[in-house]
Amino acid sequence: MLKSILKRFVAVFLPFRCHACSEVTDFGVVLCDSCLTKLSALIGPPQLVEDVVCSFPVYTLSSYDSLMSDIIRIVKYRPSLKLLILLAEQCQKRGRLKTLVGVDDILIPVPMHSDRLLRRGFNQAELLAEKFAFAAGCKFSPALERIRATRPQADCDENDRQNNLEGAFAVGHGLILEMFAGRHLILVDDVVTTGSTLQKCCEALQPLRPAKVSALAVSHSFRRTAP
Ligand SMILES: [Zn+2]
Repeated sequence: MLKSILKRFVAVFLPFRCHACSEVTDFGVVLCDSCLTKLSALIGPPQLVEDVVCSFPVYTLSSYDSLMSDIIRIVKYRPSLKLLILLAEQCQKRGRLKTLVGVDDILIPVPMHSDRLLRRGFNQAELLAEKFAFAAGCKFSPALERIRATRPQADCDENDRQNNLEGAFAVGHGLILEMFAGRHLILVDDVVTTGSTLQKCCEALQPLRPAKVSALAVSHSFRRTAP
């Protein structure tokens, strides 16, 4: 009784809204039922993406969709850890990760530079990789570091993308290299656009002597073309 009065009081004075459509929700609920249902329906088993620059297979759990794109943007720029956790949980439930990820594989998140990590408070790729590893029953390792701050790839034109990432990634210090040698390493990120970030990460992984590299992203955004 007291709890429901308190909830009504909070709803009147501190209305909480769905982060995607602004519908009023219960306090602390970041996605309304309608948006959650739509999000859930967008996620499915890993699908191979074709129009990327990568020399290895890249898979996504959802193709481009405006709701998915909004959610990924809100997670990063609001930022919202709660919405990220909800997205990761939906991927765990609906993504059938075991169809791609074996128990001997290692999931490696695309790293974030420490300055940005300090501002945002979390690396969305790292949380996704950790949750995906739990769902697939495999290992997770933040084996790569972003050793140089870069501009967001989305802000670069096609020519700038490669230069922007030159020397940006390296294998972290203190890794037991034998743990990675001969294994299937799967890079994880929230969204893939052209794939140039993933390609640079794959090159940086080579000292670990992987048998195979793949990448898994939640979604695939439109490739930007010059106007
Ligand atoms: Zn909504």
